Amino acid sequence: MASITMDHIVKQYGDGFPAVNDVSLAIDDGEFVILVGPSGCGKSTLLRMIVGLEDITSGTMRIGDEVVNDKAPRDRDLAMVFQNYALYPHLTVYENIAFPLRLQKGHFSNEEIDQRVRRASSLLELDEHLNRKPANLSGGQRQRVAMGRAIVREARAFLFDEPLSNLDAKLRGQMRTEIARLQRNLGITTVYVTHDQTEAMTLGDRVAVLRRGILQQVASPRALYEQPVNLFVAGFIGSPPMNFLAGFVDGDVLHLPIADVPMDDRLRAAIGDRELVIVGIRPDGFQDADGLAADKRARGVGFEANVDVTEWLGEVLYAYVPYQMHDEVRGKLEELDRELEGEGVRSQLVVALDAASPIGDGDVATLWFDPATIHVFDPDSGENLT
Ligand code: ATP
Repeated sequence: MASITMDHIVKQYGDGFPAVNDVSLAIDDGEFVILVGPSGCGKSTLLRMIVGLEDITSGTMRIGDEVVNDKAPRDRDLAMVFQNYALYPHLTVYENIAFPLRLQKGHFSNEEIDQRVRRASSLLELDEHLNRKPANLSGGQRQRVAMGRAIVREARAFLFDEPLSNLDAKLRGQMRTEIARLQRNLGITTVYVTHDQTEAMTLGDRVAVLRRGILQQVASPRALYEQPVNLFVAGFIGSPPMNFLAGFVDGDVLHLPIADVPMDDRLRAAIGDRELVIVGIRPDGFQDADGLAADKRARGVGFEANVDVTEWLGEVLYAYVPYQMHDEVRGKLEELDRELEGEGVRSQLVVALDAASPIGDGDVATLWFDPATIHVFDPDSGENLT
């Protein structure tokens, strides 16, 4: 096993903007890191440079202490783990796992191959299935066989490129937990590329968010959710996404289209002398004011909301509340929406309420939020000021 250290990595194809632009990222030995971002952000290119399938334009790539920029993929001791299509259908599980060892003719005795295959199959709980063919395995078992091949080679790290993207939602969920469990048990350094934010949020120790080849933020899933560094990360992480509203400053009050927020020291320091900011409030940042204790209610901001439609999903109630969108921020949000392949900027808040809330379609409700939890973004740079 080994750490993977990227230092100012650049990948330039032709004359356009670089596919990977000055990425520095240090992945610890045994760590599970997710590379995430919208289509074309450079995550696959970065992974391919780690494995050696793509030349590095500039920068230094290290596996452990060793610079590998000019090393052939086979000499890097890394294992790219593919889905079931990479298994040989005519070979048993045993022979599939043994395959990478047999490939190195004369290097391993039959006895050693047998020992390694059995060690891997026991780790992966595949002992009972060693004589089966891949067609007779579940998706999860096939994935384990694919990982078994990486283990017998004693690869120093696992690299996954969207391994679950072709599976249906249910199988994807099962495989996700399986991969998380295996990685934890094996403790092998793992880099996993996905554009699926559920995978990003549930699998990794840390998540690296890329946009147009540039690393935006590297943090634990929780830190990304609670402290996104900019509008892009804030809009990308979280489902349904964060609500963004124009905020106009007037003296000690921040005017939002839904309510006026008295500014405390935190907000004043964040906003500085700006007159316009973009305010971000997560759907779960709102509550039904009627359900709150009086002292809590007094600490936040209540406002009257004309609820358009509600969706009750068992564990949560989503309420959609139309409001007046200001042109000053619409352009910015439309640009962000295009990049995130969203559903189009709509002038409505999405509010996630307790499923027990009695609020229904067409109701006039009093909703509430705590100004201490709102995010404030610079409208030009998108930087999170809070
Ligand atoms: P996706 O999720 O769609 O696979 P990605 O984030 O993995 O996207 P990459 O495949 O790394 O993105 O591509 C990053 C950028 O580099 C894209 O703009 C892509 O068009 C470009 N690119 C990738 N491979 C090549 C290539 N061989 N030649 C030229 N440009 C390329």
